[in-house]
Amino acid sequence: MGSLRTRIFALFLVLLLAVLGLVLGLVSRSTYQHTLVQIQQQLVAGERVFANEWQSRLLAQQQLTETVASDFGLKDEVANAADGSDSLRVTLINYRERSRAQLAMATDAEGSLLASTDPPWAFGEAWPHRELLDEVQSGQGLLLVEGRLYQLHATPIHAPRPVVIGWLLLGFAVDDEALRHVAGLTGASLSLMRVESGGYQPLASSLDADGRSALAEALRHNGRSGSLQIEGREQVVLERDLPALGDVALRVVLQQSLTEALADYRPLQWQLAGIVLLALVLAALGAFAVASTVSRPLAAMVEYVRRTGEGDYSLPPPQAGGEIGLLSREFAAMQRGIAEREEAIRHAAFHDTLTGLPNRPRFQHTLSTVLEHAAGHRIAVLLMDLDHFSEINDTLGHVAGDQLLRQIGERLDEQRRGQDPLARLGGDQFALLLVGVDAPEVLPLAQHYRDVVRQPLLIEGIALEIDATVGIAMYPDHGEHAVTLLQRAEVAMYQAKDKHLPYAVYNPQADRHSLLRLTLMSELRGAIERGQLALYVQPKLDVADNCIVGLECLVRWIHPQHGFIPPDEFIGLAEQTGNIRHLTAWVLEEAMAWSRRWQDAGFALKTAINLSAVDLIDPTLSDRVAKLLARHGLGAESLVLEVTESAVMLDPDRSVALLGQLRGLGLRLSIDDYGTGYSSMAQLKRLPVQELKIDKAFVLDVADNEDDAVIVRSTIELGHNMGLQVVAEGVEHERGFAKLRQFGCDLVQGYWLAKPMPARELQDWLAASVHAVARRSDA
Ligand code: C2E
Ligand code: CA
Ligand code: CA
Repeated sequence: MGSLRTRIFALFLVLLLAVLGLVLGLVSRSTYQHTLVQIQQQLVAGERVFANEWQSRLLAQQQLTETVASDFGLKDEVANAADGSDSLRVTLINYRERSRAQLAMATDAEGSLLASTDPPWAFGEAWPHRELLDEVQSGQGLLLVEGRLYQLHATPIHAPRPVVIGWLLLGFAVDDEALRHVAGLTGASLSLMRVESGGYQPLASSLDADGRSALAEALRHNGRSGSLQIEGREQVVLERDLPALGDVALRVVLQQSLTEALADYRPLQWQLAGIVLLALVLAALGAFAVASTVSRPLAAMVEYVRRTGEGDYSLPPPQAGGEIGLLSREFAAMQRGIAEREEAIRHAAFHDTLTGLPNRPRFQHTLSTVLEHAAGHRIAVLLMDLDHFSEINDTLGHVAGDQLLRQIGERLDEQRRGQDPLARLGGDQFALLLVGVDAPEVLPLAQHYRDVVRQPLLIEGIALEIDATVGIAMYPDHGEHAVTLLQRAEVAMYQAKDKHLPYAVYNPQADRHSLLRLTLMSELRGAIERGQLALYVQPKLDVADNCIVGLECLVRWIHPQHGFIPPDEFIGLAEQTGNIRHLTAWVLEEAMAWSRRWQDAGFALKTAINLSAVDLIDPTLSDRVAKLLARHGLGAESLVLEVTESAVMLDPDRSVALLGQLRGLGLRLSIDDYGTGYSSMAQLKRLPVQELKIDKAFVLDVADNEDDAVIVRSTIELGHNMGLQVVAEGVEHERGFAKLRQFGCDLVQGYWLAKPMPARELQDWLAASVHAVARRSDA
């Protein structure tokens, strides 16, 4: 988050610096331009001053020269002069002094030198000439002699006018002092330079020695007027030609320092810089404040989000205004939502939604933890299964069932011994952990919890008593792991149910076979869902017509590890545990689907399905059957339901009522396993059945066992007397079949005809059969 603040801050500063830099740059640039132009103008003006001053000097010197020339003494001297006359020279020296000139000369009328104040001025023939005199007279008399510059003035000497007898020449030195004097008037420094093949040679200057040579050097490199860098300073320079005698080129150079002129602005610039700096500091502070106000809440927000992400919901949401405040509040709301959902998920993951008790995974986890710290203590796992809970569910409905489970959960929770962990494992099963118990204490405790369950309950105004069966597994005797112990407790529970005991401790000595069976029980429900059940069918033969008229559906369990499991192994326990309802539902669906196919193939076969006692008290059964028939487009006459006498006897009133409903639908009902139960003629008469099925126990040996033959024969007669069709199952041999035909049995079923086969093989079998097959009249 620091980076956001830094970035805002930096952006601010950069923008500000850019603006201020631009302003400063513009100011100093225009100052410079302005100053440059000003100096250039000053130089032009200075040059005019210089020209005026120079002119007035020339005039003054000229007048002086003329005054001296009119002196009579000089006329005489010149008139009588001989070459190199000493007296003329003395006179000239005198005049030179008087006129404050530095040089005095006299020539004859032709310009030949008569005398000179300074000896080196013996020029011989070369000087002076008439033409030069004219030039001097016209004011262009600058003469360079041995590095010294003189302004020459010439005036004719008359005796009398207009006769010219000679010339007087006065030379005024043009030296540093003279230039300094003029420079003082112009405000610029002045230098006189000789220009010779591109080079500049200072002759006189108001500058000091270094200054003038630097100027000469700079001019040599950079050419004429403009601004130059001299000795590290910027100088503006203006040059003008000066007329000189002979072949000499002279120039006057005016020079003014731009750097110095700019220095006048320096305080102003410092002030400006100070203001800029102040502005910068203030702006920086402002930028920092802005960056902070933006970034601080963001930083707080980020911290908050990060902590939330780590699952820490304790931090209050950062307080802020504006968008960030809005964001913060929205986020806080979202966070609360997440926290609540998380809590709900956490709770749901480990709790049973119905009772609020811990669920199976939680119980297993608790058990594992307890086992880790068992340290030799005994631990008992109690698994409690409610008896006939599914019947309550069926008769009173799911709402009542749920209410019952909740009440039992609450009760167990309230009447727990200390902190015994309690859980609902699912369905109608509860589990308890007894930690640190001695063996003799376990059974009384199991009894205690069973009693808790058995206390009468009030559900929807109905007083109910429900029983429970308890299975017990002990650590370390029966297992060392949570999963094993739980499984063994479950097995113990089934052992108890099997033997109709209130509770049982896991018994490893119990028949391995039955143990396997008990273990399988817990898997049956899943087996149905995982498609491990298979529908087998066994055909029935109409004896009189010698025609296949129907078949019985028989369920098989093909277990992935244990392979083929016959129904006798699991039907009984499925009935006790309530799983039989799911099994019946599966068989009904499957049988009708096949029935549909066989009908489509043109057959008219009655499909028989076995019902168990539990199915007979399920008030939803007839409804479900009706819906299934409709869904598969089947007529009720194509379905036969086989019911055992003993199943009916369990709850005769309700069973009879239910069978009445089914019969009302038009279904055919059959009494299965006839002869094995306590047959009651009175009951039989009450039942709306059309068929009697003699149990295979009497049929298997009917050909050889005279007792069985008597029973079978009398049963057939009885059935016929009651107007029922009689079926014999378990017909294994031709001789048995012959006997049954002789007795007048209507239908036979057994290995002699066919063993049960997978439903999908039936059509092939029918095709290969020597018997006729009932066909649809409309097909
Ligand atoms: P059940 O209803 O008496 O079925 C007839 C039993 O006799 C079947 O045994 C069948 O395979 C067997 N059986 C048929 N012909 C012969 C024969 O010639 N000789 C011998 N020795 N046995 C023969 P399975 O299939 O093992 O079924 C056993 C019992 O399991 C059935 O007796 C029935 O009570 C129950 N069961 C089977 N399927 C279901 C079902 O879908 N629902 C219910 N509730 N019970 C079923
Ligand atoms: Ca049967
Ligand atoms: Ca039977």
